[in-house]
Amino acid sequence: MNKEDFVKSIAAYCREEMKRHHILASIKIAQACLESGWGQSRLAQEANNVYGLKGQGPAGSMTIESREYSEEGWRTVKSVFRKYPSIEASIRDHTQYLRNRERYQAVFQAQDYTEATQLLQEAGYATDPEYAQKLQRLIKENGWHNIDEAVRSEQQMAQQEKQQTQQQSTQKGPSNHAAQDDVHIQSQPSLAYVRNANLNFPNAHTRRERTEGIVVHHPAWHEASVERIHQLHLNNGWNGIGYHFYIRKNGQVWQGRPHWAIGAHERNSNSRTIGVCFEGNFHPSQRQGVDRQMPQEQMQAGIRLIRDLQALYPQAQWIRGHGGMSGASTSCPGEFFPLSQLKTRIAQNDQPNPSPQPSPSEPTPYAKEAWNWAKEIGITDGSNPRQPATREQVVTLIYRYHQWRQKN
Ligand SMILES: [Zn+2]
Repeated sequence: MNKEDFVKSIAAYCREEMKRHHILASIKIAQACLESGWGQSRLAQEANNVYGLKGQGPAGSMTIESREYSEEGWRTVKSVFRKYPSIEASIRDHTQYLRNRERYQAVFQAQDYTEATQLLQEAGYATDPEYAQKLQRLIKENGWHNIDEAVRSEQQMAQQEKQQTQQQSTQKGPSNHAAQDDVHIQSQPSLAYVRNANLNFPNAHTRRERTEGIVVHHPAWHEASVERIHQLHLNNGWNGIGYHFYIRKNGQVWQGRPHWAIGAHERNSNSRTIGVCFEGNFHPSQRQGVDRQMPQEQMQAGIRLIRDLQALYPQAQWIRGHGGMSGASTSCPGEFFPLSQLKTRIAQNDQPNPSPQPSPSEPTPYAKEAWNWAKEIGITDGSNPRQPATREQVVTLIYRYHQWRQKN
């Protein structure tokens, strides 16, 4: 299959994806060509995988060895890629892949391919610093932005037709409701409250392939900014701060590494965990101030962040302290760290306004009037209004009522 044929074989599906999901067809085509070498890669040929997405696919997987750079240097890595029954399935899955990740949501709002490619790059789609430029060049040279324009005008025409039909039917009768046809966008937790100190990392980040849990730390510093921690970790010879998030005592949440990147916070699980660090020294120490309690602001911020991370990464099932990881020998996050409280409160489905429980000594509102009347006329002594009655109690009530009627 030559280049032209490959584009022909995928263009129709990419146009459909644009109509359904507001992702530019030009981007989908360019990414497929770039990632699959115009459909010539082994992955494309043998697994119908044209975007190089890793993991398990609907038709299984394919393992390929590659050289990758990590904190320990170059090494040979076996990577597992998704296998698809058809190229169409690969194209659809790629859209879902982007849609299901918070960091790519802006790509779906992009006005043109220049913006969209930039957003993909910024969100860390590829480690290649020239990824956006390469896509832009491909789109420009091949005129694929014209496909975007064509899809747009088709959509506008369809929209106009629909409006006309609606107007006509509205004129016919009031019972016609205009159908809402907005594309449903899955609600994702927003991490907009996370502050970014724009830390400089010497090397590009590597994307984490899976996220199994969240590891909680303290820096063992009574007081330290995110910049300070970043500098300390640089001094260790690491690629900057090893945690993904840093929560200060005042409740501010700071970004360390991007949440999708491999961290450097727990040596055995960096490639499958997110590291959340709480400012403070929650362990006995001669050297500096000890935090025996966590401020409420910090606790609240931690609960919110970890809940949002669990929503973002539904596979992140567990929360553990650094020292609770197998093979780790550290007191982190410290003897005084309220880990079980944190976990319990994250798991609790906190109701902001729990409905007040009726006091057992008070009748339910609907029965209040009758209860007070019964109390007044002496049928009941007014105790235990919500307790069930035995048959003898019921008979006694009727009997007392009967006596009261005779007297009155
Ligand atoms: Zn730690």
